[in-house]
Amino acid sequence: MYERYHLPKKELPLPERPFAKNAVVRDDRCMNCGRCADQCIYGVHERDAKDPRVMAEPKAYLCKNCLRCVENCPQRALTVQYSKEYLSLGGGVWTPTRVNTIWNESQTGKLPVYGAGYRGMYVGPGYDSMWTDMSEIVRPTRDGIHGREYISTSVDLGKRVDHLEFDEKGDLLTEMPKFVELPLPMMMDVSRSADLRAAPFEGLIKAAATLGTYVFFPAGSKLPELPADAMRTLVPVFYAGKTAVETVSSPSIVEFEMSPAWKEDLKALSARFPNAIFGARVEAAEGVEKVAVDLVSDGIDIIHVLYDEQGQEKGTKRLAKDSLLAINKALANASIRESVSIIAAGGLAAAEHVPKSLICGADVIVLEQALKVALGCHGGPSCPVCPMDGSKITTDYAYWRTVNMVGAWRDQLLEVMGAMGVREARRLRGETGRAIFYEDAERDAFSNIQGGA
Ligand code: SF4
Ligand code: SF4
Repeated sequence: MYERYHLPKKELPLPERPFAKNAVVRDDRCMNCGRCADQCIYGVHERDAKDPRVMAEPKAYLCKNCLRCVENCPQRALTVQYSKEYLSLGGGVWTPTRVNTIWNESQTGKLPVYGAGYRGMYVGPGYDSMWTDMSEIVRPTRDGIHGREYISTSVDLGKRVDHLEFDEKGDLLTEMPKFVELPLPMMMDVSRSADLRAAPFEGLIKAAATLGTYVFFPAGSKLPELPADAMRTLVPVFYAGKTAVETVSSPSIVEFEMSPAWKEDLKALSARFPNAIFGARVEAAEGVEKVAVDLVSDGIDIIHVLYDEQGQEKGTKRLAKDSLLAINKALANASIRESVSIIAAGGLAAAEHVPKSLICGADVIVLEQALKVALGCHGGPSCPVCPMDGSKITTDYAYWRTVNMVGAWRDQLLEVMGAMGVREARRLRGETGRAIFYEDAERDAFSNIQGGA
């Protein structure tokens, strides 16, 4: 029977909130009038229990940054700012706001609403230098954002045919290629995580089963004992020359590392897994677009392009946005775009990066660092303990925090697609005409001005 794709949610906070987001500072101009305690409905300001003549240290972890106490202090003795610990979160594209946002998404399964207006930056590197055309919000041509039309987030992995051939009797002559359908354009990867303990891994596998997606893991790793529907989510990654290591019995997708001997590896894997589709793991570096075109000529179904955690190519530091645009263009120019699926991994730090990477040419994105952040990672060097190797993490915790986060990111994808008037994630791929790129906008605005770009 038809079942609408629905993702469950369960409120699940971090085991212990590591620190207060805001620092509420009361300086020595304070005359202990107590007005701030009346103004703050969150209980940040209270009188000292032992000596009610003076105010106690503010309970900064309760502060919502509304600034009401600051505005109403007769002595101008209060300031509210981000705490040092909060500002030390993440690094590069993993800004403190993004890390904190992922923590909240993983806790609630909900997207943040910037009801008081967006206060973040309007332009930045990579995906942050592009905007999607949201004209359906202000000028809906069909059903508006949440109309009656179903918005599909399903995508396919593998080759597609660009036409069908039939004989005179109307029977199909075209041999249909193998492909795998995903209900959302997101997969997970733990193969680039240094240490992986059993509990988070098991939680991620179960989450992938609920979400209908897949988890890349290093072939040969010890696997938990789980029901078949969970184990079918696993995609073994084989490293050069190690195609015989023990792993899951009949995976739908198999990946291999690119190496000088990759053709022999692929031959061995094809014989071992005759029903699988195969993906090549390619480290993004100079000339990756040419590598992609050559791999399609060699018959590869999927190219999994690996960027670093900042979303950059190795060596060139070209950003994933520009790199994916170049790969998509090279494949389209060679008329082979439908012959391969592109998976993009690395630097995906926010829900809106999913539709943006699809627009740049990816079919599917991979969650790596975002998964660690969902489990409690600080997203950068300030992280005290890696949650992936944290023995305190239970399977249930990893499961719910992952399902919550991916559900929130899917909701964001639906919002963006609805606002763009795009009803199918498949149609979002390479849809650059529905995006605005900062570089183009700047050139259009200033190139005719003397001294302009
Ligand atoms: S309102 Fe200002 S002066 Fe009065 S107790 Fe609070 S911080 Fe001190
Ligand atoms: S900023 Fe708002 S929430 Fe924070 S302490 Fe002041 S009144 Fe309370």
